[in-house]
Amino acid sequence: LSFEELNIDDRVLGFLKKYPKPTPIQSASWPFLLASRDLIGVAETGSGKTMAFAVPAVAYLLSAVGTKKKPKAASNVSVLIVSPTRELAIQIHENLNDLSKVVNFKSICVYGGVSKDDQKRDLIGANVIVATPGRLIDLVNDGAIDLGKITYLVLDEADRMLEKGFEEDIKRIMQSTDAAKRKTVMFTATWPPSVRDLAFQFLNNPVKVMI
Ligand code: AMP
Repeated sequence: LSFEELNIDDRVLGFLKKYPKPTPIQSASWPFLLASRDLIGVAETGSGKTMAFAVPAVAYLLSAVGTKKKPKAASNVSVLIVSPTRELAIQIHENLNDLSKVVNFKSICVYGGVSKDDQKRDLIGANVIVATPGRLIDLVNDGAIDLGKITYLVLDEADRMLEKGFEEDIKRIMQSTDAAKRKTVMFTATWPPSVRDLAFQFLNNPVKVMI
C-alpha cells in the first residue's frame, strides 16, 4: 500500500508524506478501517499503531463534522481513544494534535491526578478525547462527557489495560456507548483469552490483523 492509494484528504496525505511509506500495521489496517470495519490490531508500540488508528479517525471526523466549520460544543465529540497510562495518552494526543494542525478538529487528553475543572473547560468543542479509564468514568459520572455520542472508539494496548485491572472500567465505558453507532478498534500487543473475550464481547465482526 502507498499513501496515495488511501484516497484520503490531501492535507492528511501531505502530513503522512513526512514518512517514507506506511508501516506494515498501517498498510494492513487502513483499508479496513477506512471501509468502516471493526478491527483488532495485534501490534507493539513502535509499529506505527497510533497513526494506524488515528488517520482513519481523522478521515471519519472529516466526513462527520466537515472540514471548514469550527466545531462548537462538546456534543460534537465523536472519537474516543482509551489508553492504559497517562504517558501513552499524552503521546497519542500529541500525534492527533499534530494532525489537527492540518485539518480542523480539536483533540483533548484527560487523565487522573490533575484538575478536573480544567479538563471540563477543555472538553468544550472537542472532537477527540484521549483518556485513561478512571478519569474518563469520573467525567462521565459528572455529566461532562456523553459517551452515547461516540462513533469511533479505540481501545489502545487492551492487554495492558486488563493487566492494570481496568476490566470493569472498560466494560462500563463500552456499555455506556451506543453499540449500534460505534465503530470499535482494539490494539493489543498480545492475544490472551482475556483480550479475546473483550474483543468478542464488544467488537462487531472484527477483522484481525497481525504483523
Ligand atoms: P507508535 O507505534 O504509534 O508508537 O509509533 C512509533 C513511531 O513511528 C512514532 O514516532 C511515529 O511518528 C512513527 N511513525 C508512524 N508512522 C510511520 C511511518 N509510516 N513511517 C515511519 N515512521 C512512522
